[in-house]
Amino acid sequence: MASINLKDLVKAYGQTEVLHHVDGQIEDGELVVIVGPSGCGKSTLLRMIAGLETVTSGQISIGDRVVNQLEPADRDIAMVFQNYALYPHMSVRENMAYGLKIRKIDKSEINRRVEETADILEIRPYLDRKPRQLSGGQRQRVAMGRAIVRDPQVFLFDEPLSNLDAKLRVQMRLEIRKLQQRLGVTSIYVTHDQVEAMTLGDRLMVLNGGYVEQFGTPIELYDRPQTVFVAGFIGSPAMNFVPATAEQGRLTLENGAQIPGGAGASGKITLGLRPEHLQADENGPIRVSVGLFEHLGANTLLHGTLEGSNNEIVVSIPGHISAAPDAVMGFSVSADLLHLFDAETGKRIGA
Ligand code: ADP
Repeated sequence: MASINLKDLVKAYGQTEVLHHVDGQIEDGELVVIVGPSGCGKSTLLRMIAGLETVTSGQISIGDRVVNQLEPADRDIAMVFQNYALYPHMSVRENMAYGLKIRKIDKSEINRRVEETADILEIRPYLDRKPRQLSGGQRQRVAMGRAIVRDPQVFLFDEPLSNLDAKLRVQMRLEIRKLQQRLGVTSIYVTHDQVEAMTLGDRLMVLNGGYVEQFGTPIELYDRPQTVFVAGFIGSPAMNFVPATAEQGRLTLENGAQIPGGAGASGKITLGLRPEHLQADENGPIRVSVGLFEHLGANTLLHGTLEGSNNEIVVSIPGHISAAPDAVMGFSVSADLLHLFDAETGKRIGA
């Protein structure tokens, strides 16, 4: 096992820089998720760590070795891809054994490792099948098995669950989490899915346009997003943003409504309100003109606008609720759950 250190890492294709001075330390045994929208540089960063892309400048270390110049095969990593990349003409056993065979590992040792791993993954009954005789979930397990038998210092996962249906994804991500904790292997996992990232990661590195927006635990990102981007990306439904003016511990919305809070801020800000933090309150200062309701069973989503403005607002209300289509509902929010951001830079104001 090993920690991974990324130091001032830059990637450029020709004149175009796609990763900008990325820093980060992944601790021994930790599972870090690199998450962000399509095109933000996640795969490029993972492929650089794997040795499949060159480093333009900066340094990647695994354990105490700088690996910039090492071939992928010499980095002691194993990668799991979204398309499984299994050899179709080989059995499950042969697929799992292949990497060990080309490393000239003793045959009885290969058998021992393959069978032990097959037991961990509960795929022993399928060892003699070909990949096409397996379901998607079973194939994904074989792909993981092939990584595990190698007993590497580091696992790299590149969107490994994208090809599975929604239910299986939820099941497999729990399995990956349990397996990673059991094996204790330092892991980096790439996904664009923030829910997957939140449930899997010890910590999340949020990338946006090739920049690290924030690197922290799921709860740190949810409770204290450092930028408007992270605030809007983490959490479902997404945080609401409304323009406001801060003055003497009071926030004034565009429709004139006043909310207590925002001590320490002054001038124009962006106010972030999580849908689940708005409490129904007849006399509350946040007045929402009802648009439509989405009844999800356990809770109801109200989609509306701040009364007298075009600011769209989503509220998550526990249980069932309904109102006339043109009704106005009042909400309040506790001052410690307000998120304030600089209107210009998008950076968090205060703690
Ligand atoms: P993600 O995995 O987050 O979707 P990528 O790492 O694949 O993003 O890509 C990051 C950026 O780098 C994108 O703007 C993409 O167009 C660009 N890019 C990726 N590979 C190449 C390449 N071989 N040549 C030029 N640009 C590339």
